[in-house]
Amino acid sequence: MSDIIKLLPDHVANQIAAGEVVQRPASVVKELLENAIDAQATQIKLLVKDAGRTLIQVIDDGKGMTTTDARLSFERHATSKISSAEDLFALHTKGFRGEALASIAAVAHVDLKTRPEGEDVGTQIEIEGSTIKSQEVCACLKGTSIAVKNLFFNIPARRNFLKSDSVELRHIIDEFQRVALAHEGITFMMYHNDGELFNLPKTNKRQRIVGVFGPKTNEKLVPVTEDTEIVKIEGFIVKPEFAKKTKGEQFFFVNDRFIKHPYLNHSVSAAFDGLLPDRARASYFLFLTVDPKTIDINIHPTKTEVKFEDEHAIYTLLRAAVKHSLGQFNIAPVLDFNRESSMDTPYSYKNKSVEAPRIEIDRNFNPFDTVSPKSGYTGTPNYKKESTSGWENLYDGLEKHNKSSGFSSVEIEVEPEAESLFVEQESKGFGDKPLVESETANTYQVHNKYIVSPIKSGMLVIDQQRAHQRVLYEEFLRNISLKESVSQQLLFPLRLDFSANELLILDEIKDSLENTGFIMDRPEEGVLEISGIPAGIPESEVSIVLEQLLSDLEHEVPDTGFSQTDLLAKSMAKSMAVKTGEKLDDLSREHLVNKLFACTEPTLSPFHKKTFITLSVDELDRKFNA
Ligand code: ADP
Ligand code: MG
Repeated sequence: MSDIIKLLPDHVANQIAAGEVVQRPASVVKELLENAIDAQATQIKLLVKDAGRTLIQVIDDGKGMTTTDARLSFERHATSKISSAEDLFALHTKGFRGEALASIAAVAHVDLKTRPEGEDVGTQIEIEGSTIKSQEVCACLKGTSIAVKNLFFNIPARRNFLKSDSVELRHIIDEFQRVALAHEGITFMMYHNDGELFNLPKTNKRQRIVGVFGPKTNEKLVPVTEDTEIVKIEGFIVKPEFAKKTKGEQFFFVNDRFIKHPYLNHSVSAAFDGLLPDRARASYFLFLTVDPKTIDINIHPTKTEVKFEDEHAIYTLLRAAVKHSLGQFNIAPVLDFNRESSMDTPYSYKNKSVEAPRIEIDRNFNPFDTVSPKSGYTGTPNYKKESTSGWENLYDGLEKHNKSSGFSSVEIEVEPEAESLFVEQESKGFGDKPLVESETANTYQVHNKYIVSPIKSGMLVIDQQRAHQRVLYEEFLRNISLKESVSQQLLFPLRLDFSANELLILDEIKDSLENTGFIMDRPEEGVLEISGIPAGIPESEVSIVLEQLLSDLEHEVPDTGFSQTDLLAKSMAKSMAVKTGEKLDDLSREHLVNKLFACTEPTLSPFHKKTFITLSVDELDRKFNA
């Protein structure tokens, strides 16, 4: 047999390797921005066209490159940042692999212009798919400009794999924000298709966060600082009352590098324990500084994961630091007279849902029973203490009032004599307590979670949350496609703040949203004004619904118009559906059941979970005879 193994030509090897470094336009943005930072730039400009498909250009005023370096920078494993393996353990730069420029040049048209300080002229190099097309002397400013055009021009499969412009742009903005947040001492600007998206002058950390996320962010931030031998922690957490209901803004930086770290995220969440409303997530911008020797940033090709030597200690320190800040924030009202008075109620208490007054019933009370010592009912509920004695009374009641057999025997829960006591409450809408079930209603709520209803063959048990999701989902789908929704006009339009990224998403789905009943406008930069909302959403929940929607859209990244409509409907159904734990009155239960069975697909929730089960009389019989 003849030899069959060959070495791949460089350009092929580069293209393969590029797959790891350059996954999408945002990866190019990250690499170029990081190179500019490593070159000690004080001002960095990012220009993007068509979400990076046509152009990604980074212009910096950093130290520039000599002609030889400029040429070498495109070679694989060519780096000025480390020279030996030991250097890997003392990294002070973003880059170190020497792969980025080689990879980018393998899959795009690259135009580099660079001039180091002290030289009169600079160097311009053009490369297409790893092949140098031209190299010339050029007149240019000190620093470096790298323009990456027609990304993936030679890998159609990759190009086709890219998501919609808005999704790719969102990823680019994410990378830009991460870098900008970590380097407040550098001026950053970003333009998309000639429109300015960000203009962030050199500043401090707090103002940088505000610059990136909008002026209203300032009042939401609480500083965190802690300096120990293992780690220095600084940054900000977002006050619990401003926590996002879904995904928060969660930023960890280690030695000025953005990282994702589920374990440390957990430590921050643990510090927030009990302070956040249901389902809300803590938001934070935390900057950790550790000795580079104690971390390994080499475990992930795109370098957002970091391994710490002493993860556990950092976890504990971080949680303590965040707790401390939260504590200080809670003490603050006493000292600060300018605070809004609404903030003085402890958070968890303030957000407690209001409970309908409870009526406690003495089950053993029988006005006709003159012999029983309990007949002197004083109005003090004591049924808890007396849950077993006097149980025969239940049967008395049953004999007298519930002679009919079969399913209605559930009504042994009903205390017929006592019922008249509650008629009034019932008519006021408190009639959803199991003990005061009206005898005519044929649906019951169990544990504020299930709706039970007798049917011919036995009984039906409906999951109220899932059922309502199904109903709303089909309603929204219909409204979005038929454009026949009902809008509820707001007397005072709501003004909501969103980040640039979020506004982009909202713009993209504006039409569909309007079909569900939203009426929106963009009166000024960074603000969304809502003057109409879908009928059925309480005004106070509009921001939650939109936040949930944004988070769903960001995570699921729909591509086609169809799945986007679907996602929109699902998301709104999810956030607007009644939840487990909510009490439903007779009428609501009845409506829900009727609407569910009028659905095209009543059996499943939009998330493919069962909406109801049935229990036949046979099954019940079997259970009793088992
Ligand atoms: P790495 O950043 O891992 O060293 P890159 O391929 O990103 O690898 O860059 C290769 C080299 O090119 C860098 O080490 C640096 O010397 C030089 N370089 C890249 N971008 C710039 C820039 N904007 N300014 C100055 N030098 C640069
Ligand atoms: Mg680099």
